[in-house]
Amino acid sequence: MSLLPHKLIIIAAPSGAGKTSIVKHLLSALPDQLGFSVSCATRTPRTQETDGVDYYFITADAFTQRVAAGEFVEWEMVYEGKYYGTLRSELERIWQLQQTPLLDIDVKGGLKIKAQYPQSLSVFIEPPSLAVLRERLAARGTETEASLQVRLDKASEECSYRDRFDHVIINDQLGVACAQALQLVQDYLSK
Ligand code: 5GP
Repeated sequence: MSLLPHKLIIIAAPSGAGKTSIVKHLLSALPDQLGFSVSCATRTPRTQETDGVDYYFITADAFTQRVAAGEFVEWEMVYEGKYYGTLRSELERIWQLQQTPLLDIDVKGGLKIKAQYPQSLSVFIEPPSLAVLRERLAARGTETEASLQVRLDKASEECSYRDRFDHVIINDQLGVACAQALQLVQDYLSK
């Protein structure tokens, strides 16, 4: 049994920066070594999403109870009235499998995790510009004009935290960004 602290990988970015695509690429490239940390969320599932795979979709009441029970290593109201949190049990489950948890998380949540697990690898995915981010979010078709504007305002604030991460990857071309992320992860896992 290793006495080294458990490894953990944080991929944080404003919504629409391409973080989820990069996370999926990492999971498919290193399926035996990485385990996706499934968060709890109180928003409604999107069409393609599956409970227990993308998120554990729970009610706001259930979320509040789990906060009170100390089940989260971090949680955030990422959007107005919508809560997201990383379960301690999820990280433990992945470590038990001898895998490294991979977290797809918002920027403030990512910084909270880094503060608790300084040995973790934290990567900030930066959109090339806010204009490109707007196009990407609009193309996804999951946002209303109002919710899109909320995400853009939040993204602009989140970009100001980029320098607090171990590494920054600018997602201009997804293939290049995926390759850069994979290299960082492989270097980290081999240490
Ligand atoms: P979406 O609603 O688009 O799935 O996610 C919104 C944001 O919440 C994304 O930036 C996503 O990475 C973030 N997120 C997902 N899970 C967690 C979590 O457990 N904690 C925090 N703080 N943010 C999360």
